[in-house]
Amino acid sequence: MAEIRNCSARVYDSSIRTSFMCSKAAKVERDGHWYCTIHDPVRRRAAQEKSNAAHNARMEANRRASALEEAMSMLGKEVFAAYHDDSTTIAEFGDVVANLCEATKAAIAPPPEAP
Ligand SMILES: [Zn+2]
Repeated sequence: MAEIRNCSARVYDSSIRTSFMCSKAAKVERDGHWYCTIHDPVRRRAAQEKSNAAHNARMEANRRASALEEAMSMLGKEVFAAYHDDSTTIAEFGDVVANLCEATKAAIAPPPEAP
């Protein structure tokens, strides 16, 4: 019969400001210590990495949304000004629109990969 071991993680309870040994049955051994599925360092690290990736994705989505909003605001103002400037030629107006479309595209482009 397999030996039943308790998890070797210490759990801190902030409400009573003390820590104690986890009372759950250990399921996995990591570097000579046994852990329950909640305190398994490999699972915890994987969960943390997943959480970090989700956080980074949300931050990047927010950054792109802000950059797009800023670029669209700039696009609108410059196109409006060029449209209402009687001296603007059709070619110049086209250039204003093209330049600002490029600025919009650059604003929402993903950041370069870290080396
Ligand atoms: Zn545990």
